[in-house]
Amino acid sequence: MRGVRFSSRALGYGGHVRSCEAVTQSSRSYDVVVIGGGPAGAAAAGLLAREGHAVALFERQSFPRFHVGESLVPAVNLTLERLGVRDRMDEIGFVQKHGVQFFTKSGPSRPFYFSEVEDPRMHGTWQVLRSEFDRMMLEHARSCGAHVETDTPVVHALRDGSAVTGVRVRHLDESEQNVEARIVLDGSGQKGVIAADLTQHEGVPGLENTAVYAHYKNVQLDPGKDAGNTIIFRLDGASWIWLIPLQGVVSIGLVTSAREILRFGENRNEILDNAIAQSPHLQARLQGATRAGEVRVARDFSYRAQVDGGAGWALIGDALGFIDPVYSTGLLLAMKSAEAAALEAMCRLAGDAAHPDMRGFSAGWREAFDRFLPLVRAFYTEDFRFGEISKEPAHRQGLVDLLTGITETQEAVGVTELIRRALGDDVGAMK
Ligand SMILES: Cc1cc2nc3c(=O)[nH]c(=O)nc-3n(C[C@H](O)[C@H](O)[C@H](O)COP(=O)(O)OP(=O)(O)OC[C@H]3O[C@@H](n4cnc5c(N)ncnc54)[C@H](O)[C@@H]3O)c2cc1C
Repeated sequence: MRGVRFSSRALGYGGHVRSCEAVTQSSRSYDVVVIGGGPAGAAAAGLLAREGHAVALFERQSFPRFHVGESLVPAVNLTLERLGVRDRMDEIGFVQKHGVQFFTKSGPSRPFYFSEVEDPRMHGTWQVLRSEFDRMMLEHARSCGAHVETDTPVVHALRDGSAVTGVRVRHLDESEQNVEARIVLDGSGQKGVIAADLTQHEGVPGLENTAVYAHYKNVQLDPGKDAGNTIIFRLDGASWIWLIPLQGVVSIGLVTSAREILRFGENRNEILDNAIAQSPHLQARLQGATRAGEVRVARDFSYRAQVDGGAGWALIGDALGFIDPVYSTGLLLAMKSAEAAALEAMCRLAGDAAHPDMRGFSAGWREAFDRFLPLVRAFYTEDFRFGEISKEPAHRQGLVDLLTGITETQEAVGVTELIRRALGDDVGAMK
């Protein structure tokens, strides 16, 4: 099917209120098509639709759906604010997160509180049940004017030579349809529909980890404002467990080297139980707790795409890359790339190119990724101690900045360089 291409501006949309029905019923051609309705896809679709662009988003699953990745860092608050959904976070009742604490076998670190950063907008953030958070984000994209279809997988991208010209989608009744777009944003997560075709994911050497996780009820939490903190229990240089308090349940997950996971047990339930048994501090909190739901597994999650975009396409969110979950930077990086891609697309759509070249849009995202990477790598070295680095006040500030998701301050850059030097320059960054 070849629809008539139009620009939303030509249709007289302007400002922030428009009907998406007119866009979707009469044509299957858009300014931008977004693949995937996770936080990255929803954020990009909402930002573009709000500016008057004709946007369609296709999501394979029906929402709400389960997703791992439940702890935010406060730097995400700024994106939530720009999107206009920050107030919704408290209305929904997500758990407030004020800090992070690390335990080793010998005991706890001093907690890192986000109130130690300068900007009061980042003195706290939220732990989110992803089914609820992602649903809120997708509803928001729809309310901004994006046409959103769930239960509609993108089968593949449409190509004209090296340019991406749209997508082929499959509807619930199994019928398939071509949908044209000037730009396609691939926000389809780890698998990356376009990413798989047009570029390669390079793994992060040394971070070939696997996660085994589940939700628990009746976990003992710390009193007061610490009740919502993330707690990281470090078992050894290769293995750790997260504890993330959510509404009514607590998320607990082991992360360990893929090569060594079987030393914890032979199946996922046994692996998680035995890992928990290795941390007396965590075990004490689980007296009387019960598992709610199945134990799940994730693997091969640390990588970066070699190329971020091209003529008519760009990768956002996990399709572009993800570092290890240890500092909960996934959603921050996902939303950062979504915002950058949306801004770049807005500029490029104003030009004449039928399928504008998006390559290079993610320079800021890449810089942030490279700042987090040495700290992640350091965590997986045997003799790494937060306490040691924190002795120097500027370095502690740098650590708090990074744990808040702030990568640009002098202190954050300083501590990154310190760690990079300690690790050896060759392992501190990717090529
Ligand atoms: C073990 C683990 C723990 C993590 N913990 C955290 C954490 O605590 N904090 C944090 O910030 N991050 C965490 N993350 C990372 C976080 O989950 C991701 O960074 C985040 O979900 C990325 O959002 P996204 O929108 O790019 O992708 P996703 O959230 O994965 O969304 C992609 C969407 O695309 C859809 N899709 C896929 N294929 C198609 C298709 N063909 N057609 C249409 N739709 C499609 C999927 O159904 C999905 O809804 C963790 C990750 C792992 C692996």
